[in-house]
Amino acid sequence: MEFQTIKKERSYIETNDIARSPTLQTILMVEKFIDENSGEYKKTDLFKNLPKKVMWQTFQVIMEYLESVYKIVYDKKNCIGGLICVDIAPEFWRMDGAVATINNQKATKDKDKEELIFDEKDLSHNLEAAEGCPVAVIKIIDLETGEQLYPKE
Ligand code: SF4
Repeated sequence: MEFQTIKKERSYIETNDIARSPTLQTILMVEKFIDENSGEYKKTDLFKNLPKKVMWQTFQVIMEYLESVYKIVYDKKNCIGGLICVDIAPEFWRMDGAVATINNQKATKDKDKEELIFDEKDLSHNLEAAEGCPVAVIKIIDLETGEQLYPKE
């Protein structure tokens, strides 16, 4: 019986040893920096401008971990109702009185603004909801690149 070698592309996480493993504190520092600078920096600029220096390999491991992660930033105070987001993506949106609210317990919420981090599999649905909003109060941000996917700036 012949055995075939299965070649698999290995990720940074798999190919880098424990010495390059980031601490939780470092991951949080990078994530916070991305949050605060959404849309301003591409990946290499993010690396160069981090408040604390980390090794490039460590940074790659963190970015891979954060990869395919997106964020909804919902400007609730400017919602005009109308239910379009709820009709398009009821698993993510529901009404809260006259305005919409993110339909997920992990969302952070205050009276004017709500945010939710989600992954790749829910991207198209959330983009559709954002694009359907007549007053463009639903922003979708790619946390890997910092790019605002909708509305385009
Ligand atoms: S589509 Fe926009 S304006 Fe309409 S309920 Fe949803 S968030 Fe509010």
